[in-house]
Amino acid sequence: MSVARFWREQQNRYNFVGTKCGSCGRFFFPPREICTDCRRKSLGKMENEKLSGSGKIVSYTIVHDAPDAFKAQVPYMMAIVELDEGPRITGQIVNYPQPDNDQDIMIGRKVNSVFRKISADGKSGIIHYGYKFKLID
Ligand SMILES: [Zn+2]
Repeated sequence: MSVARFWREQQNRYNFVGTKCGSCGRFFFPPREICTDCRRKSLGKMENEKLSGSGKIVSYTIVHDAPDAFKAQVPYMMAIVELDEGPRITGQIVNYPQPDNDQDIMIGRKVNSVFRKISADGKSGIIHYGYKFKLID
């Protein structure tokens, strides 16, 4: 992957830019170059489109055991969020209620994306950023 393409993809990730199929209108995030619904028909018709970054929780899990870089944050909630435009993406819920709450209450809850530090590499000092989600109701 070229450096230019890498940065373009990073920027798209931060700004919630996905692609929309010119034929069927389906949204993709992360961006795709080919629509999985109409495939060949839509080749060359994918357009960049900024997504709202809001959606609802369709599934989630409480993480109790994480890789070293994320250990300080456990337990935390990872959710599959269905964005208003349709794509489903996985992200951390930054303000989840205590894990002993009734779990079913979480399904269908509205969330907004927030831009947060994902991890920091202690040796290099590099800090990685990306999206997470925040409960809004
Ligand atoms: Zn399509």
